[in-house]
Amino acid sequence: MARLGLSVSPGFALLAAALYYIGGGAALAAFLTAALAHELGHMAAIYAVGAHIRRVRVTAAGPVIEYGGALTERQEAGVVAAGPAAGLLFAAGCFLTHAAYFQYAGCVAVLASAFNLLPVYPMDGGRLALYLLRLGMPERAAEITLRALGTGRRDGGGDRGRLPRHGRRRALDGGARKFSRSAVRRVLANCADLR
Ligand SMILES: [Zn+2]
Repeated sequence: MARLGLSVSPGFALLAAALYYIGGGAALAAFLTAALAHELGHMAAIYAVGAHIRRVRVTAAGPVIEYGGALTERQEAGVVAAGPAAGLLFAAGCFLTHAAYFQYAGCVAVLASAFNLLPVYPMDGGRLALYLLRLGMPERAAEITLRALGTGRRDGGGDRGRLPRHGRRRALDGGARKFSRSAVRRVLANCADLR
């Protein structure tokens, strides 16, 4: 069995400190437990399909799980779906209790799951949408449709590079940083168009 590496970046400590500063201990604890439930969902699914985790990096954009193994595309989609599913299951458990803190933690988990399910590659929702689209249409059409969903442009933002199909080395999560960077770029480009 491969040795599991874990690294925590200073950026994550900064993110945690910012959350604590803005929302206090309850917000930080709710965020951490929701993130933990999400990642444990991915991890359980990775082991359930016989794959293995290479490394877990905890970054300023949240945890990134690197894993490997011979997976079918369907198994891979299951691994991706398991994160948001675990987050929503955790939220349901929170709502079953009547403690104010857990109600709050449940709301955080629902919001985090909804964010992760946005149909933007390489976030979980984007990966799942790509898998589902590829079932019903040719590869290239699926990619353009996904980009159109993410960018709101019918041509999907033009002819960009291909999305990865199936690799030996894969990473889950951490797409939020790329997503927010491209969203900022898009807003700036639109502002420039207005001038
Ligand atoms: Zn995820």
